Amino acid sequence: MEAQKSSRMLKLFFIPLIAVLSVQNVQASPVVSVRIGKSLKNINVTGTDLKRHLLFSNDTKNYSGKKTVKFNCETFTTLNKQRNTPILLATLESPTGLLSYGNTKYQGMFKVITNSRGDSCDIINEIPMEDYISTLLNKEMNSKWPAEALKAQAVAARSYAIHKMTSQQVSKELGSEAYYDLESSEKHQVGGAFFDATKSTIAASYATKGEVLVTGTGQVRPVFFHAKCGGKTLRPDQVWHNKEDSYQSVNCPFCHNIGPKGWAKVIGTDRIKSFFRWASDKKILQEKLESDLSSIVMVPDNIDRFTVNFYINDRPYIIEKAVLRRYFGNVVFPSNSFSLEMKKGGFVIYGEGLGHGVGLCQMGAFALAKRGWSYKKILAHYFPDHVLKKMY
Ligand SMILES: [Zn+2]
Repeated sequence: MEAQKSSRMLKLFFIPLIAVLSVQNVQASPVVSVRIGKSLKNINVTGTDLKRHLLFSNDTKNYSGKKTVKFNCETFTTLNKQRNTPILLATLESPTGLLSYGNTKYQGMFKVITNSRGDSCDIINEIPMEDYISTLLNKEMNSKWPAEALKAQAVAARSYAIHKMTSQQVSKELGSEAYYDLESSEKHQVGGAFFDATKSTIAASYATKGEVLVTGTGQVRPVFFHAKCGGKTLRPDQVWHNKEDSYQSVNCPFCHNIGPKGWAKVIGTDRIKSFFRWASDKKILQEKLESDLSSIVMVPDNIDRFTVNFYINDRPYIIEKAVLRRYFGNVVFPSNSFSLEMKKGGFVIYGEGLGHGVGLCQMGAFALAKRGWSYKKILAHYFPDHVLKKMY
């Protein structure tokens, strides 16, 4: 378990060094482990001349021709009844470098693990970083976007992934070896499959090979991106309370005419009352909340403010807008950039942008690339205190 992780870390840290020393200057990409499926009762993997290795019985089997290997996770998971940690069950690879899971082709190799609850399996794709980024660009951005916008996105997504790898954040949160660095979902970032990579996404990924954004002091920290800021980006602490060095809120007049226009939503007073009860339970109110919520008043708000001031029975409550979005969700609050207006029977929300608003504004990057900005200039605008560094 430890050996596996450390071998991955060795790959990450020593390949660049070897590459620098190598006469051919062959610079291999580090391998990133991406969870592509979770809580599965069955897993079918198809490939040509498959090599399947079962770890608990140390059994390797080579299949010839095109074959499908099936895993019934309900039998495997009996192994895991006593432990609350994932077990690495099997690895699968093909000399073609391609494997299929769920009718979708992936590059690299697969690992099958029991999940920590021990009732099903997860499947993990191990793939060289630049190939991973090539598929991701078509999911997190759009392969038809200008090359410099794709390159800016490639650097942001690579930085995010490298941080997850080097910090081993997923394993730390789990409290044991997780066998993957990040998952392919909106929780982390959405990777693609083999056919998501196009000529333009591969070009953007390899043109920026090994490049990541680091903080002014050279630290690899999370680098964030979102669809559209709506006028101004936000700092991580304004949205999630996590203080991250080198972030600034920057003006972005560029995304205004790109993508979705401003939005408006309505929430009834009852839902605001439910919100206050929830916030009280979660102990995020400064003042004690009484059971009578009949008198809610709001101080006039504007879009540049990060908090909303309410009075309930003459007691003041300052609510962070990001907390409202967390409670009501991304459908009611598509972004963190909005103002609230109190109306009879409820509140009207007027907002701009799409997504959390931190870091790279993708639609801003699109507009700037169209104006002829390079990806370095685009990144320097959204991350003025970060430094671009080539890690391998
Ligand atoms: Zn923007």
